[in-house]
Amino acid sequence: MKFVDINFLLSVHKLAQLPDPTLPEIAFAGRSNVGKSSLINTLVGRKGLVKVSGRPGKTQGLNFFQLGDEAYLVDLPGYGFAKVGRGMQDNWQKLITGYLEMRSTLCCVVVIMDIRHGAKKQDTQLISWLKQHNIQCLPVYTKADKLSGNQRDKNAAALDAGHTIASGQRIVFSAKNGMGKDELETALASFAKI
Ligand code: GDP
Repeated sequence: MKFVDINFLLSVHKLAQLPDPTLPEIAFAGRSNVGKSSLINTLVGRKGLVKVSGRPGKTQGLNFFQLGDEAYLVDLPGYGFAKVGRGMQDNWQKLITGYLEMRSTLCCVVVIMDIRHGAKKQDTQLISWLKQHNIQCLPVYTKADKLSGNQRDKNAAALDAGHTIASGQRIVFSAKNGMGKDELETALASFAKI
């Protein structure tokens, strides 16, 4: 399954604005600047579909992209950026939690982490929250091109241990050289049954 027939649909800032739940949905989550936009752009083969920025933390909604007549891809706002005020973070959290809890068509949340860093508290919290809510989670360790093969394996194993993830259930990825792209396509197509 190639994720090529993709178009921006709408940006949701309130739950009332959500499109009708008619298609399977795959959401993408991660800390600000982790490489979420780059991962989505690589997946769909379009450099500029999601704006990549070196500067994290801009306020944004849930961005919906439609994949042909088959699925929605949902880019969730990045989390964990201290410069956004506490009130703003609470609003984001309410919107995202509300969305994740109520969305009947949600079939997977891709949780993107930087392979160079150890397990971060917010990622651990999100992963265990998803498990508690019986929401399928696909961990992806990105920016893999930034490490040598040996170091990559070591860091991936440390993240697996930190988040209690089995090595067969996550993907090591790079937006720079395409590592893990085929694996990601296959996994997402299987979750969405497309
Ligand atoms: P987002 O805030 O999570 O959407 O992160 P972006 O996709 O905007 O990426 C943040 C920065 O990391 C940008 O400078 C990207 O070029 C860089 N980046 C993202 N993914 C990769 C990757 O796989 N490899 C490398 N080397 N850089 C990456």
